[in-house]
Amino acid sequence: MHERVLIIGAGIGGLCAALALAPTGRDIVILERDPAPPRGGADNAFTDWTRRGVGHLRHSHAFLARLRTIIRNEHPELHADLLAAGCRELGFERMLTDLHRQAYRPQAADRDFVVLTSRRTTLELVIRRYVERYPNVRIDSETFVRKLLTQHDPQGLRVVGASVADADGARDIIGDLVIDASGRTSSCVEQLVEEGAAIPEESESAGIVYFTRHYRLLAGAQEPQRTKAGGTGDLGFLKFGLFPADNGCFSITLCTPEPEMELRKAIVRPEVFDAICARLPGLAPWVDPAVAEGVSRVFGMGELHSRWRQVAGEGIAPLLGYFPVGDALVRTNPLYGRGCSFAAITAYALRDVIVSTGDAADRIQAFQARINDDLRPYYLNMRDQDRAAIRRARQQLTPGYRPSLRSRLIKSFLEDGVNIAIRSDADLLREALRGFHMLEHPSAWLKRPDNLAKVLRYWFTRRDQKADAYPPKPGPGRTEMFQSLGLAADVDMIQA
Ligand SMILES: Cc1cc2nc3c(=O)[nH]c(=O)nc-3n(C[C@H](O)[C@H](O)[C@H](O)COP(=O)(O)OP(=O)(O)OC[C@H]3O[C@@H](n4cnc5c(N)ncnc54)[C@H](O)[C@@H]3O)c2cc1C
Repeated sequence: MHERVLIIGAGIGGLCAALALAPTGRDIVILERDPAPPRGGADNAFTDWTRRGVGHLRHSHAFLARLRTIIRNEHPELHADLLAAGCRELGFERMLTDLHRQAYRPQAADRDFVVLTSRRTTLELVIRRYVERYPNVRIDSETFVRKLLTQHDPQGLRVVGASVADADGARDIIGDLVIDASGRTSSCVEQLVEEGAAIPEESESAGIVYFTRHYRLLAGAQEPQRTKAGGTGDLGFLKFGLFPADNGCFSITLCTPEPEMELRKAIVRPEVFDAICARLPGLAPWVDPAVAEGVSRVFGMGELHSRWRQVAGEGIAPLLGYFPVGDALVRTNPLYGRGCSFAAITAYALRDVIVSTGDAADRIQAFQARINDDLRPYYLNMRDQDRAAIRRARQQLTPGYRPSLRSRLIKSFLEDGVNIAIRSDADLLREALRGFHMLEHPSAWLKRPDNLAKVLRYWFTRRDQKADAYPPKPGPGRTEMFQSLGLAADVDMIQA
């Protein structure tokens, strides 16, 4: 049967679904509420592309190796287009410390530990233009999906199309399959639940607020050398990350725990944002006014949640012809940089299921089973880390708090064992990165006896004998930073 596929949303999930399905020859119509990108290149897209449907479009984005490998292997021309547009590939060697370099021998696998990064507008623009080149794909821009068209079928609730509104008014579009890639604010699930579908979900706050500002190197200026302090760090009250991007641009993301109200209010002022960066040794050379200038306001984003939805499984009535991918299915904390990889993995899992069977009920069961196997371990690992980070952030702000022996042991194992081992031994770094890049279960490497033995050896080594492996302090403590910014550092300013 020649199937017609409707995809709601031309964000990362929708574009990945089209990338996955277009080569199968199906007719694909992508329905996107926002306008098409403006004419011109990456700079025009960054300044002029109206994307009300993606509130996080102008936050820093990087694709993990899992997604970059999918693009490179499945669509080498797209990979070449991304590089030609200036997108950056940050490889394994960039992660090596001075200690690693002393004995480092490159291995073939190192070439796969690559992060692809650039302004998200550039990534989306290039992927979209590539997708548009498929003769069997059409993108209807400025087409808002108002609701799904459904039928109650003896087998279960069946989705048969979408009711849309565009410049010509309202119309219905019929499809054999509807892929919901409308992101975290998707209203499709709500509609289906109202119509009797069971779509259980779990959701909780990631506990953080995101702030991003974009910069451009001044004419003739070179990107600063990476300092020992590095472009990412965690001060407890503040996490930070530097994202090199295309065409002389880069962005910096600062991230605070939710309760840090005083800091949250101040950080949105560009001069405060820059002043914070100037006090962090890993970022200071980048925001030096002789090197780069800020080219955007500070974009803020809260309400960051992780959310897991289940569209099939025991006791769940079959949902037919409807498949959520990307954030509409699973949302993750942006700190882990996994959301776009999750979107691609859900899209490619769906492709495999669709080509393997034509039966609608089998498809949704097989799809959910693939998602459970592949993504659930990353989701649970992230959720547990988030819960621990939220607990730590609150404890840090509790006057007189004294951590238990267990907490101190765990902290010491992570900081003086795992972290030191990874920073000292390139083989262990390689092993740990497999989990980070979603190439295997995030804690699988530490369960391998050889790796655990090495980590324990580092943990038990006297501190003075491993002093070189400790990273330099990423920045000042909370009180010092707040005082230098003229902010009240007292804990009663913290929202309960
Ligand atoms: C601050 C922040 C930073 C992030 N950083 C990273 C990162 O570094 N790396 C990473 O991998 N992930 C990151 N993520 C996560 C990643 O951005 C998302 O997981 C990803 O965008 C999900 O893709 P999606 O297609 O599901 O949703 P989106 O990309 O949000 O796309 C949804 C699309 O659907 C359209 N749409 C919505 N409703 C309708 C409708 N009714 N009709 C028609 N169209 C509609 C929207 O306009 C939009 O184009 C970050 C997220 C946030 C919030």
